[in-house]
Amino acid sequence: MKHFPRVLIVEDEPAIAELIAVNLRHNGFQPIWAEEGVAAQRELDAVLPDVILLDWMLPGQSGVALARRWRADARTKGIPILMLTARGDEPDKVAGLDAGADDYITKPFSTQELLARIRAVLRRRAPEQVDVSITIGALALDSATHRVSWQGQVLKIGPTEFKLLNYLMKHRERVHSRAQLLDKVWGDHVFIEERTVDVHVKRLREALGAAGAMVETVRGAGYRLTAQAQVASQA
Ligand code: CA
Repeated sequence: MKHFPRVLIVEDEPAIAELIAVNLRHNGFQPIWAEEGVAAQRELDAVLPDVILLDWMLPGQSGVALARRWRADARTKGIPILMLTARGDEPDKVAGLDAGADDYITKPFSTQELLARIRAVLRRRAPEQVDVSITIGALALDSATHRVSWQGQVLKIGPTEFKLLNYLMKHRERVHSRAQLLDKVWGDHVFIEERTVDVHVKRLREALGAAGAMVETVRGAGYRLTAQAQVASQA
């Protein structure tokens, strides 16, 4: 079943909130609108959203104060917060980030920019991003340093291929459909075609060189990373 990420919009200007809500709904998100902090808290007490869009200037508690409060609360501290600000001043941005916001976006912003930022914070918070190192045979991946090596040699690999490999290595020997990979690796597949997966798998194999054979195509099903592949030795 497809998950429609819940986005809590905390914004006192109805026109802006409505515009954001319409665009989010249109792009596969589930928007919930709260006009100020008290209403927002009520929503949070009921159901936790996947991300919070938080206006800086609100009646009652300011966005920064709310961000600080939600970050301090064990129940809400893991929810990504994207601050919406009309101000372009650097100190305000810093204050927002200091208060615990994951990112900020300056009004006026385009829908595309907003969606890109939301997806980015969702990806950063995704459970697949937890730092670990994984080794399968002579292939090693270290999330902390973003390094992939084969037989001790560091490989050059792009950021998307890295994430893809990370996922495949964590879930080795299992077949993943393109849609599953889009969902798990890209975080959202509203705008991305399944063919994109093939492009990145091709690049991943190229980056892996001799170890590229470990990424198998399972006809009609998807892709699998296997330790059983016949990998040519570079010795
Ligand atoms: Ca406002």
